[in-house]
Amino acid sequence: MLVRNRVAGRALRLMPRKPQAAAALEAPPRPDPPMPLRGHATIVRQFERTGPAGLAHAYLFHGPRGVGKTTFARTLALTLHCERPTSFPLGYCGTCAACHRGLAGSSGDTLFVDDAFIASLDPSSERRVSGVNMDAAREVVRLMQLRSYEGGRQVCIIPRFDDITFDYVYNTFLKELEEPDAGKLFLLTSDRPERILPTIRSRTSQIRFAGLTEDEISSALVERYDVAPKRAATLARKAQGSLGDAIAMREEEGETLGEVTRRWALACLRTPRALPPMPPLGKDDPRGALDSILRHARTALRDCMVFAIAGESATFDRDALAEYRSTSAALGPNAAAVAADALALVTEAENIAVTNVSPATVLGWLQIQLRSVALARTADGSRR
Ligand SMILES: [Zn+2]
Repeated sequence: MLVRNRVAGRALRLMPRKPQAAAALEAPPRPDPPMPLRGHATIVRQFERTGPAGLAHAYLFHGPRGVGKTTFARTLALTLHCERPTSFPLGYCGTCAACHRGLAGSSGDTLFVDDAFIASLDPSSERRVSGVNMDAAREVVRLMQLRSYEGGRQVCIIPRFDDITFDYVYNTFLKELEEPDAGKLFLLTSDRPERILPTIRSRTSQIRFAGLTEDEISSALVERYDVAPKRAATLARKAQGSLGDAIAMREEEGETLGEVTRRWALACLRTPRALPPMPPLGKDDPRGALDSILRHARTALRDCMVFAIAGESATFDRDALAEYRSTSAALGPNAAAVAADALALVTEAENIAVTNVSPATVLGWLQIQLRSVALARTADGSRR
C-alpha cells in the first residue's frame, strides 16, 4: 500500500510544502549572525589544539541537521579573520572592522554559498534553489581564485554540500580541493555525507557532529529564545537532537494554536458526526492563521498516521499520544488509510489557500472533507 511506503521514518518530514514566494529570490538577504555554538566540546578542543596554523585546507562537517555544523563553520571563519580574537576556534570579538564586515555578510574573505547566494546568480529564475548548480560552482571557483581582500585566508562555506545532484558539479570543485592552498579554506557541511562523490569526500578532513542532548537544546531555547523551561523541555524532546528543528517547531507552533488545531483535526476523524470547534482564524491576519492551522493539521495527521502504523515509539509529539491512541482506536484498522487521505486533503486545502478563496471557506471546506473521509471509511468498515 502506498501509505506504508511513505511512512519510512523521517521521509514524512518531506511532505510537499507551499512553493516559496518569488520575493524570496530577489536581492540576497544578509545572513543573521551565527548563534553561539551549543555542545560539541570535543570538536572545539580538537580545533583548539590544531590552532589556526594547523588547519587542513578543506573540512567536511557532517552529522544530523540542525546541530551547529554551519554555525561552527561561520564562527570559525569570523574568528580566523577577526583582528582581536579572544580564543580559537570560536572567539571572534564582534567589534573590530573585520568582524563588522563579516557579520554584515560583506566580508571579502568569506564566501557563504547559501541559497540566497545561489539564487542571486540567476535572479530571473523562478525556480526554487536547491543546492549548488553548475553556475554557482563555477562562480565559487572563480571567486576563490581571486586574491584575498583582507590579506587573510580566503574561506568558502558551503552548507548542505550533498544537495549537489550531478557529478560534474562536484568535479568542478575537484581541482580546488585536491591542491591544498594555504590561502584557502573550504568548510563544507552535510547531513547525508554518503551522497557526496567519494573522490571529493576523500579530499576533505571529515569531522562528525553528533546530535545535541535534550539539556543542550532546552537550555539554548530558554536562554536564547525566551522559551519557558517546561515548554523548552518538550520541544527538546521532540527535536531529537536537532536544535534547528526545535527552533523551527517553536516558530511554527503558536503557543496554543497547534494544540487547538490538533484537537480539531483529530476530532473531525474520530467523531465525524459531531461538529468540533474550528481553530480560530483571528481578525488580524486570517491568511497567516490559515497557513499555520494547515501546517499544524499536517503535523498532527502525519503523527496520527505514524502512530497507527508504527505505534508510540515512532510518534514525534509525545504530548499528544492519548489523542492519537483514541483516534486510532475509533478508526480501527482503517486508521492509517484515513489519516493518509486526510493528509492529502490538507495538501488540497493548501493549494486552495493560495488562491483568493477566503480563509474561512477553505477551513470550512477542509472540515467537511475530513469528516466525510472518516464517515466513508468507518461506514465501509462497519456496514457489511
Ligand atoms: Zn573581531
